[in-house]
This record gives sequence, structure tokens and C-alpha cells, in this order.
Amino acid sequence: MSLKTPDGLPAELNGGAGGYLGIDLGALRDNYIALSERAAPAKTSAVVKANAYGLGASEVTRTLYEAGCRDFFVAIAREAFDLHPLLADDVHIYILNGLLPGSETLCAEHGFIPVLNSPQQIENWANAARDTGKFLPAVLQFDTGMSRLGLSPDEAHALAESPDVLKYFDLRYLMSHLACADEPDNPANDAQLSVLGEMTALFPDVPVCFANSGGIFMGGDYRQALVRPGIALYGGAPNAERPSPMKPVISLHVAVIQTRTVPAGTQIGYGGTATAETEMRLATLSAGYADGLPRALSNRGSVWFNGIRLPITGRVSMDSIIVDISALPEGALGIGDYVEVIGPHQSLDELAADAGTIAYEILTGLGRRYQRQYSGGVS
Ligand SMILES: *Cc1c(COP(=O)(O)O)cnc(C)c1O
Repeated sequence: MSLKTPDGLPAELNGGAGGYLGIDLGALRDNYIALSERAAPAKTSAVVKANAYGLGASEVTRTLYEAGCRDFFVAIAREAFDLHPLLADDVHIYILNGLLPGSETLCAEHGFIPVLNSPQQIENWANAARDTGKFLPAVLQFDTGMSRLGLSPDEAHALAESPDVLKYFDLRYLMSHLACADEPDNPANDAQLSVLGEMTALFPDVPVCFANSGGIFMGGDYRQALVRPGIALYGGAPNAERPSPMKPVISLHVAVIQTRTVPAGTQIGYGGTATAETEMRLATLSAGYADGLPRALSNRGSVWFNGIRLPITGRVSMDSIIVDISALPEGALGIGDYVEVIGPHQSLDELAADAGTIAYEILTGLGRRYQRQYSGGVS
């Protein structure tokens, strides 16, 4: 007997996975094009840090390159080294966290573009330029109100007053990052925009890179020369208060591994945090918090089957989840069937909300145990 799979593939082909993670590269491409059109005349880059938010940096960057993207942001140098051999020579790879001391020369040789976030990073990159005898490409980041990375206003003024060190650089962009871009009405956004204006005026004629996904939806002043979307490319909502206007990119289906009927009074799952109030039918699913389904979904979240909501009952375990299937006709769901965790009935953002987190954390935590199925990609 051959097991069922969501798309009729014989189960032997899934490598024994407990679930299928579908990644629609056509939707990814459409999202990139929609964002580019919205951002124009600004150029649109792609943030592909953390393995492209967990979806596969190689597949994602290849798809976006075909759609016209030439600017890719990663967080750390290791990600740049991984990406570099996969991409053509006409792309720019930017490193958001800048460089740790000691990695400058190798990064310079590869043509990576660090975001310089502090006087120390500026100094170290200038030293690498002196050592290699080349102008080195760089982005200069300002902290306009997030207190995370970038030159403070005082440091920016000091640099503008003695800009000698900048002569070693081919300065591509001035950059900053919004702290509250998912809340378009938050006054912190305008405050950051106005600090950005003051700081960039100190370095005239350098293009500015400011908006993340949320910023692209906040009006022309925010878009500047280059935008840096991440989550919206991957289908997540750029605005925390509204449903996502982007096409969904991922779907997730998880296999049923056991069903049972329990009498009233039976404890369910670790710690016995749920108890059957009446006779209940339960199904155990083959994915848990080690697969990125947070323990916070315990007794809160749900999955779907044939348009019917199946509540998560008891605690989420490392490798399994128990759901209440009493709402389904008896025998409707059995071993080897797949339930929807993310799909037409439950969006990525809805699942994240049930877990008390954000789509970003769900995506980047999805883990390696699913069978990944890419569709709609370039061949
Ligand atoms: C992660 C990140 C982005 C992308 O943000 P989204 O909200 O996912 O669009 C852009 N810029 C910086 C500096 C980031 O760290």
C-alpha cells in the first residue's frame, strides 16, 4: 500500500518527511514585481537573510534575479559567502550587520558591500581599503531612532566634519531602518524620516536606502532610491493591522500518524493541560515545535481539513501535535492523510497571531524536517 500525499506523489518520494512545505516561486516573483511597481522610481532590492526567511536562499535569489533583482541583502558575511557562488557577477551583495573584525580582507576580495554601522566598522573597512589598495564599496547606516545599528546623529556630524576616511570608499548608499513600519500611523515613522533627512543632508549626492516592506506602503518620501523588502516578498503582511495584500508564497501540510477516541475525563498531552469534557476523537500529527510550530500554539492554535477547523488540544510536543477531530465525520481523517497548517484556510499571519508571534519568526523557524516542494520556478 502506498501512502497518500497532498499532491498524489507516492510517499516514497518525500524522504520520510512528516509534512510538506510548499514554496510558490511564481507568487514570490509576482510579489517582487508588485513591490517594484509600487516602489518605482526607486529600485527594489531583496532581503534574503536567514536563508531567505527560511525559504531557501538559492531558489529565492535565482527566482528574483530572473525577475530583475540585482541587489541582495544578507545579515552576516557567512550568508554572503554562501550566496556568492550561486549568483551572476552583476549582482550586489550587501551585509546588513557589517563585518566582524578580521573578515574585511576576504569580504573585500569577494566584492561584498558591508553596511558600515559604527565608527569602528568604518575604520576597519578603510584599513582594508588601504591594505588592498582599492576603493571599497560601502553603505553607511544612520540610527534614526531604533538604537540598534548605525551612526548616532553625533557620530554622523563628527564624520561629516572630518570626512577624510570616506575617500577610501565607493559610497553606494546612505541607509537607515524603520522601527515601526508595520504600524503606518505610528508617529515614530515620521520622526525617523525627519532625522534621516537631517543626517543624509550632511553627505549630499549619495542615494538613500530606507524602506523595508512596511515603508514601501507608507508614501513616496519613504521610498528614496532603493527599497529593501523582506517579509512582503514572502507573502507576509507589511502592515500588522491589515490582511496581507501580497500573494501567499508558502503552504504547509502535516501528516496524521494516529487517531483515537477517548472517553470524557481523559487527559491529553504533556502535563495533562487539556482534558476531554465529553468523548472526543483525536488525531496526532507528525510535526511539533522542532518543526517551527511554536509551543505557544498549545490549546490555542488550529489546523484545517476539508474546510473544518481542528483545534490544537494539549501541549505541542517536539515532534507531534494532538488535534481535536470530533467535528469531522467519523473515519474522515486517518493515518497518512494531511491536514492544512498554512494554506487557503489559515494564513501565515493568522498562524503567527495564534502563536503570539509574527510571520517572520514562523518563517525563519520552519526547520529542516519538511519535504520542500518548490513550484512555479524558473527552470
Ligand atoms: C530584515 C530587514 C529588512 C527587511 O524587513 P521586512 O520588514 O522583512 O521587509 C530591511 N532592512 C533591514 C535593516 C533589516 O534588518
